[in-house]
Amino acid sequence: MFNAVQPAPPDPILGLTEAFRADPNPAKINLAVGVFKDAEGNTPVLASVKAAEQRLVDDETTKSYMPIDGSPAYGKLVQTMLFGADHDILANARARTANTPGGTGALRVAADYLSQNHAGATLWLSNPTWANHHGIFNAAGVETQTYAYLDPNTNALDFDGVLAAIQDIPAGDVVLLHGCCHNPTGVDPSLEQWKAIASAVAERGILPIVDFAYQGFGQGLEEDAAGLRAVAAACGEFLVCSSFSKNFGLYRERVGALTLVAQDSDTADTVISQVKAVIRRNYSNPPAHGASVVTTIMSDDAPGGLRSQWEAELAAMRDRINEMRSAFKAGLDERGVNLTPEGNDFVTQQNGMFTMSGLSKDHVAALRENHAIYIVGSGRINVAGMTPTNLPVLCDAIADVMQP
Ligand code: PMP
Repeated sequence: MFNAVQPAPPDPILGLTEAFRADPNPAKINLAVGVFKDAEGNTPVLASVKAAEQRLVDDETTKSYMPIDGSPAYGKLVQTMLFGADHDILANARARTANTPGGTGALRVAADYLSQNHAGATLWLSNPTWANHHGIFNAAGVETQTYAYLDPNTNALDFDGVLAAIQDIPAGDVVLLHGCCHNPTGVDPSLEQWKAIASAVAERGILPIVDFAYQGFGQGLEEDAAGLRAVAAACGEFLVCSSFSKNFGLYRERVGALTLVAQDSDTADTVISQVKAVIRRNYSNPPAHGASVVTTIMSDDAPGGLRSQWEAELAAMRDRINEMRSAFKAGLDERGVNLTPEGNDFVTQQNGMFTMSGLSKDHVAALRENHAIYIVGSGRINVAGMTPTNLPVLCDAIADVMQP
């Protein structure tokens, strides 16, 4: 029976990693994959995570199943991180959180929930968006459409385009907003723009999903939540998909969360009952290890505890990315290379690991063939793949392929 099966197309980004591994050039540079790397090009386990894991090894008493939605302590910590301890949403118990396997798991649970409870609702995604968004929602039977996002002349937000698109989204549909560090562009709305987007979404009667995969990678844990909190101020109901892959470096442990916020606590109970039904039929209950690490770190909030150690490690990752952004812009400027007609300022104005470089498909191909530099075909660069050593090589190579 398997003879008739056709191979699936390779994943565009993970496929590039395989090609990179096979490339014998010792000077090769991988700027394709979406993981943080330190200045030596490694993705280390954070010291706060190692310490938490040691505590778990010593103290864990059972490997019995988790509740369908994970541990209540984890849910509370996630909500506090999203909204702050004193928020009305927490005070009035309007949120419920399910621990999911990664941010991808949160998105897939949200997708199944939508397809089973909001029949006919279309999901609107920014153009461009994370390559997996369309696939995750379509696989659950949710139709997807796109809204304008990036101004190609400046590589900045097409704010008027976003607002105009929202005005045309039918009531009852769903819109996905990237909470911060938009993937793949790195372009986030300002706080004023967030407020305007959130009111437009509320006025139209659209359900927002905030995909929050990079909290703390942009400006800071609190600062990065400002957009989400603007949505919370304007919209009584919404979903949040959190990932702790990047900010805790827990990629392979698969730790994330789906948080739903309702108008009141009773409604939140009803909606979480449907979310739990989805989870039960999907993976039954979540893996515990990653969430236990996050819970151990976040709840050790005494001075000098694991939480402050983790926050310092997170700040160091963020600072490294921002230093690389400045050095990349300076390297391009020095060589007289302009990635957009308006210059390279956008590189330092964007947030998070990614920048939509404006490099064309031909440039990307030439970088790979002539310089063994691997970038996603759309021109998305992982800034965290840059190091003080490979940056001059990268800038020279970009200058070379962009020569008229
Ligand atoms: N959303 C966005 C925007 C992402 O970039 C990613 C990870 N690349 C995810 C969700 C999924 O995160 P996870 O690896 O935790 O499944």
